[in-house]
Amino acid sequence: MNQQLKTPVTPRDAAAMILLRDPEDPKVLWVKRARTLAFMANYHAFPGGQRDAEDAEIPIINDEGLEDAVMRTVAIREIFEEAGVLIARGVEKLSTEKIAKLRRAHSADEISFKDLLESEGLELDAALLKEAPRWVTPPHMPRRYDTRFYSAWLPEGQDIEIIPGELEEGEWIRPDEALKRWVDGDCLIVTPIFAALQALSGGVHDFADRMHAVNQDQRDHLEKRVEMRYGFYLSPLRTPTIPPATHTNCYIVGGDEMVVIDPGSPYDDQQEMLDEVIDQFIDEGRKIREIIITHLHPDHIGGVAHLAQKYNLPVAAHRLTAEAISDEVQVDRIIEDGETITLSEKSSGLDWRLRAMWTPGHAKGHLSFYEERTGSLLTGDCVVGFGTVVIAPPEGNMNDYLDSLRHYLELPRITALMPGHGPVIADAKRKIEEYIDHRFERERMIIEAMKGGASRSDQIVKAVYTDVPQTMHQLAELSVLAHLGKLESDGLVKRIDDDYRLCI
Ligand SMILES: [Zn+2]
Repeated sequence: MNQQLKTPVTPRDAAAMILLRDPEDPKVLWVKRARTLAFMANYHAFPGGQRDAEDAEIPIINDEGLEDAVMRTVAIREIFEEAGVLIARGVEKLSTEKIAKLRRAHSADEISFKDLLESEGLELDAALLKEAPRWVTPPHMPRRYDTRFYSAWLPEGQDIEIIPGELEEGEWIRPDEALKRWVDGDCLIVTPIFAALQALSGGVHDFADRMHAVNQDQRDHLEKRVEMRYGFYLSPLRTPTIPPATHTNCYIVGGDEMVVIDPGSPYDDQQEMLDEVIDQFIDEGRKIREIIITHLHPDHIGGVAHLAQKYNLPVAAHRLTAEAISDEVQVDRIIEDGETITLSEKSSGLDWRLRAMWTPGHAKGHLSFYEERTGSLLTGDCVVGFGTVVIAPPEGNMNDYLDSLRHYLELPRITALMPGHGPVIADAKRKIEEYIDHRFERERMIIEAMKGGASRSDQIVKAVYTDVPQTMHQLAELSVLAHLGKLESDGLVKRIDDDYRLCI
């Protein structure tokens, strides 16, 4: 099979600060990223950011033998910009009001960080930071960072002040409490944050060493399986999918017993990688109960037959999916709309209750799964992390699709969208509303184009999809046909052969 290999994005240099306070009852500063950010919107994280060109010009003492001295400067500058905490030799001479004033001047671009330090006679000191492990964003992500983590204690007399912008809020939290919230589904964090919290919960003073040692395991598996949430593992597998996506997310969910959702890759190397992940789970004493398919598309079922055969696993899907793929994959169990698949873990006493939701629109037999305890919603191709969802008739149906999105909104609590492609989305409700709005906006534009004289789908594409490259126009035309189908069933459009006319 023809394999499209895409070069991963080059990681950019970044630094993050694990800021601690109260040595007797240690707390760490974590921040909630703004919902408007393109990367990890509404995730919890540590303050940090990318390296600036000027950072290398800022002197830092005690940098002998340190190849990462400039990255320490990045971490110090970022914690100042994002939380108003200034970590420098001589800072005790400054009042908190003075520090706040300097920060305002700096954020208004009135003074550079370098000049600010110089004018106050402050010195950056590499020794004030402790180095924690360095992490690189896995290759399947649209943006990647090579992030150095450092820790430092909050300087005496200072406190944080988060000015809403890139960050929504900041909070001092005991590491155990942060982990509990993660297990309960109250927040989304990425693996290095999880690794740091886990190491911190064992004691803050030597945590950096422990983070190095204890989490080697996490790191080894990072590109193969990312634990997005306790008991929710994501294995991004390269598949023949629709650009800009290059991978399909395979989810493995549960505790002592697990299910594998959408092992979609037809490629040998990707199947081998997933086999390794499954072997690891089996080595950990877990059992794989079944394979679940969200819908019939090749990039979601490409690895099902292999996995089913190799591990002797039953396959479950919606009836319509089972019928459509019967030539390629044998489905052993039909999943009914509303049924709940319960998976549990003895050691933690936790359950994962996956409620199946029939969500047609992208595909007739499309299933989503809502995990009731954590509020996690596995969306298949109904909502994706980047790119767009194609609604291609006759399999796709715009009315059904919008109904499915509305069903999502009726759920009591959605804490994360775990899509079939792209990153997991924290700001769930808003994303779903955006999806609905986007479709109505397209519909409005289609009606406008028709009022302007376009009557065939290709003419409408040219008028409406001016923001989409020519190469995607064929797909766009399918979406237009889906919209026209909806408008027809709404009684707003009449079709005569390939010609569509407005009846309003
Ligand atoms: Zn699909």
